[in-house]
Amino acid sequence: MPEENIDEIIQEILSEEKKVDEDQGEEILEPEELYECPVCHHQVSEDALFCPYCYAVFDEKADYKMLIDTIIKKLKKLIGFATEISLPLSGVNENIREAKMYAAKDDYPSGYSHLQNAYFTVVKGLVDYYQKELEKYELMIGVNPEIRDLYSKAGVYLDEWDIESFINTFNELKERAAEISKDLKQYLEELEAVERAVEIANKFNIPTEKVLNIIDTAKDMAESRKYEGAIKVLNEAFMPVKDEIEKAMTSFLQVVKEEVTRETFSGKSNAKTIIRAVREMKVYHDEGNYLKVLEKMGEIEELMSQQE
Ligand SMILES: [Zn+2]
Repeated sequence: MPEENIDEIIQEILSEEKKVDEDQGEEILEPEELYECPVCHHQVSEDALFCPYCYAVFDEKADYKMLIDTIIKKLKKLIGFATEISLPLSGVNENIREAKMYAAKDDYPSGYSHLQNAYFTVVKGLVDYYQKELEKYELMIGVNPEIRDLYSKAGVYLDEWDIESFINTFNELKERAAEISKDLKQYLEELEAVERAVEIANKFNIPTEKVLNIIDTAKDMAESRKYEGAIKVLNEAFMPVKDEIEKAMTSFLQVVKEEVTRETFSGKSNAKTIIRAVREMKVYHDEGNYLKVLEKMGEIEELMSQQE
């Protein structure tokens, strides 16, 4: 404990130092005048020659040849992304063709303007498409902090028209969301199995109060969306009553043995099914899986009652 406190104190001191650095950093930075790009409405620096988001030119002094090179490089990747989602790219190929034609004649400003049109169409199409895709995950923000962080990070990339970083983050978000839905599904299945096993335990007069308390704990965890933890708790639900289960199992097996002996003697086929179930029950018992042991006890009892 004392060590932990020291660590905590050190951590606090270190984080204060960081704050001091940040404050100083802000003071050194000169406040920059911002201005809204009339084409894409991003905030850009007042003395920018062109918009770093949509490549609209603000000043004729801009280096058109450099802009053409930059846009072509970016456009290649973006068209790849657009093709993957079958985004319609009307006019884009024509614009690129025109741009090439002008560039070949060394008319860079005209070439640039066609290319900028193509770029704007593709990037705007991607941003609009992914904005809707991202919004589908809005309901999952509350599920856990990781999802919330990925969601807001992806949103920032999209605002900045940084499609590549957005797609990476968005894929991560989708993966995480899928895992969580998988956990939820598994939790619900596990809960159902445990509740069914409680009913079987009741039939065999095994006290289940402790198990019910554990189920409540798991439900509370699931309530706060800790599905993984809830599954773990449910997996151990029957451990506190394992001695009682063993006792019930022992006397039940005595009954089963008599029944099987009688059936085998009279040549009835049901005995085989019962013996197979007993063998499976033994495996679960060796594994310490008391939930499955109870399931098998219920199954065997059913098999025997069918026989009568
Ligand atoms: Zn712009």
